[in-house]
Amino acid sequence: MAAFDVVVLGGGTAGVHVATEVAGGGKTVALVEAGLIGGESAYLACLPSNSLLLSAARGEPWEDAVARRTEVTGGLDDSAPAQRLRRAGVQVIRGTGRITAPGTVAVKLLPGGLGGAVLPPGGSGGMVPPGREGASRALAQDADQPAAAGGTASRVMTLTYSDLVIATGCEPVAPPIEGLSDIPAWTTAQGLSSRDLPRRLIVLGGGPAGCELTQVYASFGSQVTLVEAEPRLLPGEPAFAGEILAVALRRAGAEIRLGSRATKAERTADGLTLALEDGTQIDAARLLLASGRRPRLGGLGLDVLGLEVTPGMALPTTTRCVVAGTGGRVWAAGDVTGTTHTHASHYQASVVAANILGRHREADYSAIPRCVFTTPSVFAVGAVPGGAEESAESTGAGSTPGGSAGAGGSAGAGDGNGAEHGPGNGARTRRMLRIARAPSAEAADAAEAEAPPAAQSAAALRLVTARVRLGDTARGYLGQDDLGCLELYADAGTGVLAGAVAVGPDAASWMGEVTLAIRAKIPVAVLADVVHAFPTYGEALQTALRELAGTAGSAARADQQEKRTGTLSELDMETPEGDAIEQHQEVIADEAVASARREVPFDVNEADAAEQERAVGFDDDDYR
Ligand SMILES: Cc1cc2nc3c(=O)[nH]c(=O)nc-3n(C[C@H](O)[C@H](O)[C@H](O)COP(=O)(O)OP(=O)(O)OC[C@H]3O[C@@H](n4cnc5c(N)ncnc54)[C@H](O)[C@@H]3O)c2cc1C
Repeated sequence: MAAFDVVVLGGGTAGVHVATEVAGGGKTVALVEAGLIGGESAYLACLPSNSLLLSAARGEPWEDAVARRTEVTGGLDDSAPAQRLRRAGVQVIRGTGRITAPGTVAVKLLPGGLGGAVLPPGGSGGMVPPGREGASRALAQDADQPAAAGGTASRVMTLTYSDLVIATGCEPVAPPIEGLSDIPAWTTAQGLSSRDLPRRLIVLGGGPAGCELTQVYASFGSQVTLVEAEPRLLPGEPAFAGEILAVALRRAGAEIRLGSRATKAERTADGLTLALEDGTQIDAARLLLASGRRPRLGGLGLDVLGLEVTPGMALPTTTRCVVAGTGGRVWAAGDVTGTTHTHASHYQASVVAANILGRHREADYSAIPRCVFTTPSVFAVGAVPGGAEESAESTGAGSTPGGSAGAGGSAGAGDGNGAEHGPGNGARTRRMLRIARAPSAEAADAAEAEAPPAAQSAAALRLVTARVRLGDTARGYLGQDDLGCLELYADAGTGVLAGAVAVGPDAASWMGEVTLAIRAKIPVAVLADVVHAFPTYGEALQTALRELAGTAGSAARADQQEKRTGTLSELDMETPEGDAIEQHQEVIADEAVASARREVPFDVNEADAAEQERAVGFDDDDYR
């Protein structure tokens, strides 16, 4: 038995960061890791994915890309990060941890579990056998077995803690497809660590990972078919993002099949055949599963802490990252809480560490970026129209100044925005939506008297949208960007930015200011006065912000008329108490409007905008 102030279960992004911070703060810390120190991101997810995407964008051959990927993932050798942890004062214990009583964790040690670096079971870097639900689940199942203390292969070490941190990440879930376990299939981890370049590949799932891997393999010459059951890619984001990405992936040579579920898989001499519910049969050498993940909670012994966990559910946490219902000394960070990005894991880990060290800190989830690192990339942050939470009164739909009725008509189910969500829309779109975000962590511990994270966004938002095509900026024109598009969403009630989605080159790098603006609740009127360098994509932000503030060129003039007679008056009637546009129109003098117009690089009157749109030549079919 070994006693620690803090035991951290899981040594991925979140676990490593918490452990390092609290050890630095003087606590005794044990970190228990069943696989690789550093977790998914460093070896099997973000880094290899981005490495391959960058190699593809540079036009490197597959062999060079694989060599570079091996270099950036350190050949799946985690001895250096393990050493860093030890130097930071953290006791690294390699094995599978399970809570056996409040205050106690039993670790089924891997061979060499207290010593140097070892590869995870099977030496596979935590990869998942096809058709199973994940290596860590297998690990968790192992942990369910009674461990015989003292044996070589199954020695058990007991740890006690004052604070427990659960940072066990998430795991892929196999979709219900008949015959899946009989065919050659990869998880994303396997797809990102293989040297094999399949001649024909089916990617199942059109979320961020599915889109990135489709672009990777299509770019290196595989004949890729992406299958997504929903009617669009990136179903969680506004439709235009997935529609543009579909065009980009098709241009990269991939076939995109939307709106039909895979039902049956059969092994063939050359690989497999996948049947879709619409009757389509697709042949491939391999299937790559990117169709869903879930928090990795099985076998952790959470019931011992009085927690009932339904498979697929995230651990409910408070804003301080306390696991709700545990009384305050059990914390969680990372994917296990339902977040899905490395930076979110890192952020929550900082919050956990601060609280353990006695510095009260609460997480703010209003501006956590969501990224897809394809070309063009997709960057989303904050609230967006549509989505599951929308109680959706679309009060402004249909009023689309300058809009064309064309390509946007492909909006998918659940979008809630009718025909307005398409890259073929006019340069300017205004919509107002009511978004009600239901608090999801009902189990929040009342005794802790804290709001769960979801409750932070529970207030109804009334979103006003401004859209700008990147091709309408000088930078986009120079770069011949016919796909890029930006939407900003302001809350009409408060006059601050609530969310944004950008599709374009390296969008994360020029959307940082939007993230800051949402997090810091900077008024749109202030943002609209920020000067952006010419010629950059920042000018798209400038145009959109000025539109939101009611100051952009002809839109401003139109707005001023509409203020009394037109569309905006109707919108104002919906929200008389706090229309941001109205407020900002009052704030900004005519002179400022005039100078704003002078700074617009091109004359963007409606006729020109329509002309540009025709020149770009979006094909309706591309968006369906
Ligand atoms: C294909 C793909 C690409 C991605 N790309 C990006 C990207 O570009 N940018 C981005 O921000 N995010 C990306 N992500 C998401 C990112 O990888 C995760 O958000 C991040 O790794 C989560 O970190 P974590 O610490 O919560 O979990 P993990 O990194 O998964 O760490 C959890 C650790 O816990 C260990 N463990 C589990 N159970 C036990 C147990 N019982 N005992 C001991 N140890 C245990 C596991 O072995 C694992 O190492 C991507 C994900 C995927 C799948």
